[in-house]
Amino acid sequence: MKVPFLDLHRTHNTIRADLDAVWHRVLDRSRYILGEEVEAFESEFAAYCHAEHAIGVANGLDALVLILRAYGIGPGDEVLVPSNTFIATWLAVSQVGAIPVSVDPSPATYNMDPAEAARAITSRTKAIIPVHLYGQPSDMEALGQLARRHGLLCIEDAAQAHGATFAGRQVGSLGDAAAFSFYPGKNLGAVGDGGAVTTSDAALARRIRELANYGSTEKYVHRQRGVNSRLDELQAAILRVKLGYLDEWNALRRGVAAAYLDGLAGTGLVLPRVDPRAVPVWHLFVVQTDNRDALAAELEQGGIGTQIHYPIAPSDSPAYAASHVLGESRLGRALGRRILSLPIGPHMRPEEVEHVVAYCRDRVGAARAATRARPEGAAIPQDR
Ligand SMILES: *Cc1c(COP(=O)(O)O)cnc(C)c1O
Repeated sequence: MKVPFLDLHRTHNTIRADLDAVWHRVLDRSRYILGEEVEAFESEFAAYCHAEHAIGVANGLDALVLILRAYGIGPGDEVLVPSNTFIATWLAVSQVGAIPVSVDPSPATYNMDPAEAARAITSRTKAIIPVHLYGQPSDMEALGQLARRHGLLCIEDAAQAHGATFAGRQVGSLGDAAAFSFYPGKNLGAVGDGGAVTTSDAALARRIRELANYGSTEKYVHRQRGVNSRLDELQAAILRVKLGYLDEWNALRRGVAAAYLDGLAGTGLVLPRVDPRAVPVWHLFVVQTDNRDALAAELEQGGIGTQIHYPIAPSDSPAYAASHVLGESRLGRALGRRILSLPIGPHMRPEEVEHVVAYCRDRVGAARAATRARPEGAAIPQDR
């Protein structure tokens, strides 16, 4: 049996007729930029996130950059970012000329550790960007308190967590502003690039809307040196259809995660742990082992697609080789050698989930024997 890491085709086939209708609707109307689909999606997505405003933009990276620019963060400012995130979080900070400061995660949740964040704050710190990594919301109570105590902005990178909640509150409404990506593989994905900012700060929403559209809200009146970063009508119309299924699809992901947590218990693999206040949406299901490369090779033999999110910490990327990176990346770096993402998606079949569980249970021992002499990554204490 072949188990693909993620099969978008299957998901889109369940709503094929609706998606076909969207394409015809947009083509018939022949309005492609800043029209009624974007306007409708923005109000529907804001309502979904329990935020006052949503602004459609071109992608998730731009959503982060526009938030930072609109808040006036720039050269000389420091921004706290996770050591173990997708590099976009770091690049957004660099793009506005500010300095990313690396903060190690809690080994239990992989999300930014509030105590580590507190240690990284200096007189130049302006903002914290927690990432709700793998679909699990960060500890926004502790990080929000920390931000308030030091007069910092708290900006959610929600690119992996559409629909997740923390302490009963919706992701996208947990900080001063949130950045979402609608990259096709995300829990809410377009059929191309897309992104959004959500916020309940009306002045910020206005500035971002202007910045993203050439610095203009009135034709040929340019108040700022803006950029072109807009969600287009076709993507917005597709996203409106898919938003209607998001909760259902997230629930299906929870079912897969529950089966993995149950089936893989006692194998020696370090399984994901959920903060009791969080309801994650399982963008990814990440396990940890000393024998990661051997296990990935074994699973490939069994036709099971795996990936690594992420093998190289941003601080160790060639992109940051020329700079002295501030902060701590020790744990982020160590995790990169030990983590493995198993297949997960809303339309994974039960027999596929069973195959992954059975195959893992069967092959974990072989992977361990293969690397007994030379473990790939030292164990990380789980209870820090
Ligand atoms: C996907 C992602 C982004 C970037 O989104 P794009 O739409 O690809 O620009 C940013 N942060 C995280 C954590 C992501 O996973």
